[in-house]
Amino acid sequence: MYEEKKKELLDLCLQMVENDLVIGSSGNASLRVDEHVVISPSSVHYTEMSIEDMVVVDMNGDVIEGTRNPSIEMLMHLEIYAARDKALAIVHTHSIYASAMAVIQEPLPPILDEIIPKLGATIRVSSYAMPGTKDLAKNVVEVLESRSAALIANHGAVCYAKTLKEALFLSIILERACKIYMTAKCAGKVNELPEEVVEDEQDIHDMLAQY
Ligand SMILES: [Zn+2]
Repeated sequence: MYEEKKKELLDLCLQMVENDLVIGSSGNASLRVDEHVVISPSSVHYTEMSIEDMVVVDMNGDVIEGTRNPSIEMLMHLEIYAARDKALAIVHTHSIYASAMAVIQEPLPPILDEIIPKLGATIRVSSYAMPGTKDLAKNVVEVLESRSAALIANHGAVCYAKTLKEALFLSIILERACKIYMTAKCAGKVNELPEEVVEDEQDIHDMLAQY
């Protein structure tokens, strides 16, 4: 079932590798189709992955189709879909600069005009929890309030959107923003955008995302 969606997901996984957002079998991605979720498998290297490796689960996490185990972060994907009606695609990355921010557990402040309408203002870091746990899933959903992205403490980042293509794009601009922030911080004083601008741009985000 969902052959086209599986193909789309496989293409997305390869694009995550091409964009240096993941390596090996780290990170994962999924998309929601009606009452099911098509998700990348656990422990399969992206470059060796095929359509047959994709797993279909229901909203309780029971495997409907597939011979592989679903991604270790399946609970996080399901929790995000449950909390956000409009979320149809999720991309979870281990990209370098976003992960570095997650390690110092510092939120990404509102510093760039191009970012806030797409991701929301300050991108928060979830409280630490072990990978694959319900706690991690809950902590991530908590910091996603009014945002399209979150940093996962000592781990990586996650973005969600209405399409996989958009969720990938959000992951790329989040990584760029983290890189710009850290570079700026090394070079001098970081100046955040004026408060009223942040509010206006957050309104644009909320209008566009409608989550
Ligand atoms: Zn991960």
